[in-house]
Amino acid sequence: MDYPQPVQNLITLVAKLPGIGKRSAERIALHLMKAGPETSRSLAQAILETKSKIHNCARCGSYTELDCCEICTGPRRDQSILCVVEGPNDILSLERTGSYTGVYHALMGRISPLNGIGPEQLRIAALIERVRQEQPAEVVLALGAEVESDATAHYVAEQLQPLGVPVTRIGLGLPAGSALEAADEVTLARALEGRRKL
Ligand SMILES: [Zn+2]
Repeated sequence: MDYPQPVQNLITLVAKLPGIGKRSAERIALHLMKAGPETSRSLAQAILETKSKIHNCARCGSYTELDCCEICTGPRRDQSILCVVEGPNDILSLERTGSYTGVYHALMGRISPLNGIGPEQLRIAALIERVRQEQPAEVVLALGAEVESDATAHYVAEQLQPLGVPVTRIGLGLPAGSALEAADEVTLARALEGRRKL
């Protein structure tokens, strides 16, 4: 005998979440059935509230409830160092190291011809425009060590070159073929410290 349809739907949906297999999805569904209605209600509410209140900062792309995030407007942030990352998750990873005080620019992905993602689908033109206007003292490319991230880093560096702004890239200590979010805080902090000029 299989689960009733609504339970099957729930299991299918939960199993689509990253890192959750069919068995875990089943356990979560069974837990929710056993728990009081308040558990399901607050979970559903938290998901809906997150979706309706959180968006990407217009300037850097990080997750925020505001028009412009607290990193961009933070009085203690060094506006002269601009760190380029693939996505808002990477901003969170770098913030957790506690060792970066500059500002960010998320590209919202990486160049991936196989998936039909070219430079024009990313926030690269916005980055070039921002660097042109703000003239930072340094642009740090904090992209992962995977093949597509590497290609993106080279492309961005090439585009930035005519602007004459020093461009560095993190990498030392970052295992080859890994994404930023897979690295622990100490490794990331070291990768930041060990950035080298391109
Ligand atoms: Zn921001």
